[in-house]
Amino acid sequence: MMTDFFVLKKFDRSQRYALTFFVEKVSSSFVSVLTPIAKYGLKKICLVLGMTLLLNGDSFCNGEKPLLEKVIKSNAEWKKILTPKQYYIAREKGTERAFSGEYHDHKGQGVYQCAACGNELFSSKTKFDSGTGWPSFWAPISQDKVREEKEHGFFMKRTEVLCNRCDAHLGHVFEDGPAPTHLRYCINSLILKFVEKKEQK
Ligand SMILES: [Zn+2]
Repeated sequence: MMTDFFVLKKFDRSQRYALTFFVEKVSSSFVSVLTPIAKYGLKKICLVLGMTLLLNGDSFCNGEKPLLEKVIKSNAEWKKILTPKQYYIAREKGTERAFSGEYHDHKGQGVYQCAACGNELFSSKTKFDSGTGWPSFWAPISQDKVREEKEHGFFMKRTEVLCNRCDAHLGHVFEDGPAPTHLRYCINSLILKFVEKKEQK
């Protein structure tokens, strides 16, 4: 502040007016350039913050730490932990028969964990009835919980969904889900483990 004051004192009145005018012009044009970008950025930040709070509200309240450290095991080790059907899905990218799983019509309030490593993947808050016979969600609990990989088949392009902690194959994500994301995470019941969590106020 003091330096600004002494710098200004060196100018006479007309020079100060000119300087003020110049600064105002420069700053207002700077803001007008920034505004559309800033608006877009703010919208994005608000959306991400809003979604994070909405989906992770329970975790924040409980003070839980996200489980992000990787779980790496050999196929032999996974065979000991998983049932043969779970192994087929998680490690061999298999798919359970539609309507055969435990959770496609499950309506409890809580969290769906990865059956292989316990990573909290999906919340019942984003579960919806897709009618496909597989549990369907419009978003994971947070983007760092899952990993997505493009599959390039001969006849169709699909996006594979994997557990970001243990790399278990979970299912696929399609772009025909409901609002607000319009995504449909189509997940095998066998690789999910539901843990009931009542809403906390
Ligand atoms: Zn996992």
